Amino acid sequence: MLKLGCHVGMSGKEMMLGSVKEAAGYGANTFMLYTGAPQNTKRKELSALRIGEAQALMKEHGIREFVVHAPYIINLANSVKPETFEIAVEFLGLEIERTAAMGSSVLVLHPGSHVGEGVEKGIDQIALGLNSVLTKDTKVQVALETMAGKGSEIGRRFEELAMIYDKVVYSDKLRVCFDTCHTSDAGYDIIHDFDGVMERFDRLIGKEQIAVFHMNDSKNEPGAGKDRHENFGCGHIGFDALMYIMNQKDFCEVPKILESPYVKDPENPKKSYAPYKQEIAMIRSGVFLPDIKERIIAGKE
Ligand code: FE
Ligand code: FE
Ligand code: ZN
Repeated sequence: MLKLGCHVGMSGKEMMLGSVKEAAGYGANTFMLYTGAPQNTKRKELSALRIGEAQALMKEHGIREFVVHAPYIINLANSVKPETFEIAVEFLGLEIERTAAMGSSVLVLHPGSHVGEGVEKGIDQIALGLNSVLTKDTKVQVALETMAGKGSEIGRRFEELAMIYDKVVYSDKLRVCFDTCHTSDAGYDIIHDFDGVMERFDRLIGKEQIAVFHMNDSKNEPGAGKDRHENFGCGHIGFDALMYIMNQKDFCEVPKILESPYVKDPENPKKSYAPYKQEIAMIRSGVFLPDIKERIIAGKE
């Protein structure tokens, strides 16, 4: 069966138990969470995350794996501000420990932004950071995400990720998170030629290195370099192209995670609804529903 899930929250009293409840409620059989707010480094103690109860509920629902996403503020590519880099390295080490303790083997990481110093310097800095965190005993795989290339983001081209692999000593601990919105925004033609794109990826990095897919549609045209996600099938990539990727035999064991925008209530712009239950059902049915957003609003999750 398709390993399909979405980004879920982790907060309040229930923490990870709440994450699993949310995923199960959407009909997901995998999920992705942040260990706290993605914009900051405030994190609760492991003992407060309710990991045991969460894992028991996962079992009940047949959810065998999930993915953790490191916060955006980790910027290993920053070679300008030593404090930023040091915080990033220290926090990444802790995130790896948390990921393992929660029972996940994959931590998704944005490679980072070179903040004006150039791609090469940024890549050197990322490798320096990863080399100070990864050891031969690291229990978790760090999945570098393919990026749209907005601002000074590194990871827009597969070559950039390959260069990071080349410079990391324990590169066997690295993997890739392939984000469809980002890859399309970066200029790869995954709409008409996913096979060709994958051939290139395979030559540079190896397609067995893909540990997660972020299955997002895009609000922007291919090559826009923007990174704005759209609801599944409703954007420039479209349902058919996304489903072609979703159904690749080579990747049937790889978790597919939705990071779709919440849908705004047209009558009350302060309210918005989680799209995942409806999107997951639609993907599993294999048939696009042009009125999916109206259905999400009507479903009011
Ligand atoms: Fe991401
Ligand atoms: Fe993503
Ligand atoms: Zn994105």
